[in-house]
Amino acid sequence: MSKHVVVLGGGIGGIATAYNLRKLDKNLRITVVSGRPYFGFTPAYPHLALGWRKFDDITMPLAPLLSKHGIEFVNENGESIDPDANKLKTAGGKEIQYDYLVIATGPKLVFGAEGQEQYSTSVCTAEHAMELNKRLEDFYKNPGPVVVGAIPGVSCFGPAYEFAFMLHHELKKRGLRHKVPITYITSEPYVGHLGLGGVGPSRRLMEDTMAERSIKYIANVKITKVEPDKVIYEDLEGKTYEAPCKLSMIMPRFMGPEVVASAGDKVANPANKMVIVNRCFQNPTYKNIFGVGVVTAIPPVEQTPIPTGAPKTGMMIEQMALAVAHNIVSDIRNSADRYAPELSAICIADMGSDAMGFYASPVLPPRSVVKYKKAVWMHWIKSAFEKYFMWKVKTGDVAPFFEETALKFMFGAHPIHICKDCAGSPGSAC
Ligand SMILES: Cc1cc2nc3c(=O)[nH]c(=O)nc-3n(C[C@H](O)[C@H](O)[C@H](O)COP(=O)(O)OP(=O)(O)OC[C@H]3O[C@@H](n4cnc5c(N)ncnc54)[C@H](O)[C@@H]3O)c2cc1C
Repeated sequence: MSKHVVVLGGGIGGIATAYNLRKLDKNLRITVVSGRPYFGFTPAYPHLALGWRKFDDITMPLAPLLSKHGIEFVNENGESIDPDANKLKTAGGKEIQYDYLVIATGPKLVFGAEGQEQYSTSVCTAEHAMELNKRLEDFYKNPGPVVVGAIPGVSCFGPAYEFAFMLHHELKKRGLRHKVPITYITSEPYVGHLGLGGVGPSRRLMEDTMAERSIKYIANVKITKVEPDKVIYEDLEGKTYEAPCKLSMIMPRFMGPEVVASAGDKVANPANKMVIVNRCFQNPTYKNIFGVGVVTAIPPVEQTPIPTGAPKTGMMIEQMALAVAHNIVSDIRNSADRYAPELSAICIADMGSDAMGFYASPVLPPRSVVKYKKAVWMHWIKSAFEKYFMWKVKTGDVAPFFEETALKFMFGAHPIHICKDCAGSPGSAC
């Protein structure tokens, strides 16, 4: 009888894993379990917040999409995992038996500063982005100072930079920019650190671009409190400061959701409840459990005075999904071959009129290759990539051969590598 692979989560990581599995094995039973009924292209959520995209442009209903590719869909959140019994329980009370489980739930958002959840909003979910869009429509009628920021422990800084730059562009278009002081307040030790110790000249590029666009920045501080009219932050000596604001967008910290914690300390990292994985993105204790995407426990790149985490970006996640799909199919076929993702990244920070792009391989230093470019055409590349990704999701092939060939040709990138020994931390060399 065909093995049953359950993929928990229908975002970039979940959908990429399910499609790669289907491509590798036409007969495999695959079930995606996801609380949201749609796939959402997260990198366009800042655009949704600014009203540059509509919800339907960047989302797709999962049920018809998955059934077209012979993948079952359970539209419920996973509630608990019993790794000894190979069983997943859903919020609606279903008990799903699996042979392999891929956890790709993305993060639980932690609003660690007092008042952050009430008085600011994030761009991390489509719902938050749409709420922010409503607040912005009111704000344009009566503008004032804006604070964009990141609390301690944040690992995903890119959307905060994008939002600050894109808001600058939108305000200029509306003739309101001169009425809106924008301040970027971050736990990064310097702007452009990005949770990655910087990427090439990212520090200089970010500092210059913020100066060009009249965005004030304050780094190496802890946002402790958000109020309706101000953001309060603390420096390393514990001295507090206030930044006035009429609107704020403060990035939350990411943790693993309760469903991961329910699987116990051998699956959930005790510190952040993310999935413990080895370099093949397999749980070292329960070898039929894998992690893909933001929910995987990757150690911070370096210790920073105020804690920051390592981001897990789209290309890294696609590579994790490809490696995990290969590892599951190899295991089913009793093949000894195992794969580890390269964990390289192409990141494009949209800035409205132009964009800043980075390629780093591997993302976790020391890096062999770093390339970067700031240009008007990068803005169009970012939009084109969004359309291309949505097309891939629609067709059911997220890793087409021509993409792999193009990335190899342009950057020398190899999404996955044969790995003789999976024992080692994620991102470490095989
Ligand atoms: C605003 C934003 C912008 C970003 N922009 C970029 C970018 O430009 N470039 C880039 O490379 N990376 C970007 N990233 C980083 C990364 O690519 C995204 O975070 C990506 O969406 C992560 O994919 P994922 O599958 O891990 O999680 P998600 O895409 O968040 O998907 C997780 C899915 O699991 C579901 N789920 C949650 N809990 C459960 C549960 N208990 N049971 C079942 N299902 C559950 C969720 O509803 C969701 O559908 C961005 C991240 C954010 C937050």
